[in-house]
Amino acid sequence: MNDIISLDGKQCGSCHFYMLEPSFICPNCGSEDLKNHSFQGEGIIYTFTVVMIGFGHLANRAPYVLAIVELKEGLKILTIIEGADKDNIKIGDPVKFKHMEAGTGPIFQPA
Ligand SMILES: [Zn+2]
Repeated sequence: MNDIISLDGKQCGSCHFYMLEPSFICPNCGSEDLKNHSFQGEGIIYTFTVVMIGFGHLANRAPYVLAIVELKEGLKILTIIEGADKDNIKIGDPVKFKHMEAGTGPIFQPA
């Protein structure tokens, strides 16, 4: 199983709202005029938590950093930050997209 290495989503052609999930109508304005959009994958940590006990397929990954990253495009997404210093990570730290992990979602790393 290959990880996807681009962060692909959609952008509304009407209101320019960005979305990451597969979407067929714009959640912001209801337009069906959606265009594919590849995000640059750069952003900052908007908020985060260090997960000490993982569940399911993430059980062996803990402790790990679960964060909401605000992309340069303004969209906020839930991700795991790999390779972060758990004792020194802070809100506002720059991060970049690493890969899309099947069953988990986007994985980011410190920029
Ligand atoms: Zn829209």
